[in-house]
Amino acid sequence: MRFLPVFLDLQAGPVLLVGAGDLARAKLRLLAAAGARISWYATDGHHDVSGLEAADLARIEFATGDPLAADLSGVIAILCAGAGDVGTAMSVRAKAVGLPVNVMDDLAHSTFIFPAIVDRGEVVVAVGTGGASPVVARRVRERIEAVLPARIGDLASFIGRWRKQIHNRIPEFPLRRRFWERVVDGPIGALVLAGRGDEAEAALKDIRDPTVYAGALASGRAEGRVTLVGAGPGDPDLLTIKALRALQDADIVFYDELVSSEILDRARRDASRVPVGRRVGKPGIGQHAINKLLIEAAKSGQRAVRLKGGDPFVFGRGGEEVEALREAGVAYSVVPGITAGLGAAAQFEVPLTFRREALRITFLTAHKASDAESVDWSVLTDEKMTVVVYMGMTAAPSVRAGLLAAGRSPQTPVGVFARVTRPDAQAVVGTLDELPALIQEIDGGPAILVIGDVVAHSAPWRHQNLNHAISKLLEAAE
Ligand code: SAH
Repeated sequence: MRFLPVFLDLQAGPVLLVGAGDLARAKLRLLAAAGARISWYATDGHHDVSGLEAADLARIEFATGDPLAADLSGVIAILCAGAGDVGTAMSVRAKAVGLPVNVMDDLAHSTFIFPAIVDRGEVVVAVGTGGASPVVARRVRERIEAVLPARIGDLASFIGRWRKQIHNRIPEFPLRRRFWERVVDGPIGALVLAGRGDEAEAALKDIRDPTVYAGALASGRAEGRVTLVGAGPGDPDLLTIKALRALQDADIVFYDELVSSEILDRARRDASRVPVGRRVGKPGIGQHAINKLLIEAAKSGQRAVRLKGGDPFVFGRGGEEVEALREAGVAYSVVPGITAGLGAAAQFEVPLTFRREALRITFLTAHKASDAESVDWSVLTDEKMTVVVYMGMTAAPSVRAGLLAAGRSPQTPVGVFARVTRPDAQAVVGTLDELPALIQEIDGGPAILVIGDVVAHSAPWRHQNLNHAISKLLEAAE
């Protein structure tokens, strides 16, 4: 992100506009609609106001003379649209005095740019692409237009009118936030969005005790809770809608090492973020300490999210956390996530089950060689079983030995899938016999192993065989 979206108060002072023609008039209209006072230097010496309304004209001061010599005191921003070379010179001057400047279609000379805008009264959405593509910004805007209720602006003004009163009646911030969430998400919000503002006013007036409406405990405190959330394997678009909602409502997020920063970015901006995972080479804070943190957070009235890679209940120690929360009498819920094995299967097209070829799936973990030794490999001999191994990089030689000893064919197809669903995902395929060598080709974890005939249907396998066939053909041709 190079440009931070901020909302400029145009009542604060005049905007200097330099330029002429349609481009300048479009900016005049936009600024006038936002209530700005505008001082306009027409670079062609001709203040053409065709298409502008009388109300717009009232806000415009038609300036004459050299804009480069204009008095900039009190000016809050400078805009150049259809200004030619004067735009560049104005930009230099604006930068010298530290004023925000936009030169249309000239990123190098602009210190701010105009976003695409969704305008619903008090609710304004700005969409930017860092100046790269206004067309993409417009497409995004269209999508937002489509999902935003038409009266969302009315809802914001409705709340704005009541805000101060409710502030006085619920001084505690977390409780107040929950009060407004109930209003927005509940029947009162629905009334406003349905255009029945009077009924909404009446319903809000009828609330006798707003703290009770907000769900306060007898102590007058907000009720805390913990949500165990599966973050999926890395791609933030694989978060479930429930996961996103929990992140958006969170006061505090305890996250694992495996959780990508793009996913953390989806949490509520004001939520505290606490890393509790193991870092490479360093031990984590320990499960017991994590349980304690979760319980303390909930008991202090916070909405805590315990964010875990993949799914919380697949080698994620979610079970232990739930037990601790239950014991402590803390309210909790679990939101599933896409586990790494399923992420890998989807990304690299490994059908984990396949008609008569693969009828069973086993998810197992083999963290250390000693873990691998304690696995009963004899139950994994079934050729129609796909085996998915978590944390299996270091123990790969033992995994290979165990499966071979149990009688699996050394030719069984194997896939090693690293950093799945992330931008730098990697796949290496081969046979069970080659497993330790395949691991060597991986440029860093986390990685998951998939073992079974179904790997032969995967995209990397087909690709490899195609390349193999082509090189055979080329050899033959020579
Ligand atoms: N709860 C997680 C698993 C945690 S155990 C889940 O459901 O996915 C950690 C192991 O998960 C790693 O050692 C690796 O085997 C696997 N893993 C997690 N994220 C992964 C990713 N993006 N790509 C490949 N494997 C991953």
